[in-house]
Amino acid sequence: MATEQTLSIIKPDATRRNLTGKIIAKFEEAGLRVVAQKRLHMTLAMAQAFYAVHKDRPFYNDLCQFMVSGPVVVQVLQGENAVAKNREVMGATNPANAAPGTVRKEFAESIEANSVHGSDSLENARNEIAFFFSQTEIVG
Ligand code: ADP
Ligand code: MG
Repeated sequence: MATEQTLSIIKPDATRRNLTGKIIAKFEEAGLRVVAQKRLHMTLAMAQAFYAVHKDRPFYNDLCQFMVSGPVVVQVLQGENAVAKNREVMGATNPANAAPGTVRKEFAESIEANSVHGSDSLENARNEIAFFFSQTEIVG
């Protein structure tokens, strides 16, 4: 295993309910380290570009509207096997299928308002990190 970096987003449903600390604690308890972080309100154009991979899916427009419905916290998580580890801590996309103890099981409101985003591959992680952060903002 190698040290990796991955992109994590705490979504508007979670910032609205003041859950950022509880969610970050789960990542830290799993051995992941926050090496970059900022809170922002994404524009619709940003959300559409970030989720462009899903542009043909029926949920795309709703998803983009949801992502701009409130502030998000975007962060770079670093650690051994960080891409897969983050996905493990997040839990399944649909909270109904998420394992006990995962972020989505404990906090998600629905399959859409599921509290967190995480990169699904090392290549996507690199692209998604560069979408939000410059190299000087990432401090390991
Ligand atoms: P993940 O976030 O687990 O990688 P996807 O990449 O498949 O999941 O989907 C991106 C996001 O789109 C999900 O996190 C969720 O917010 C939303 N989403 C996925 N599937 C659905 C669905 N069937 N209905 C509504 N929203 C969905
Ligand atoms: Mg995904």
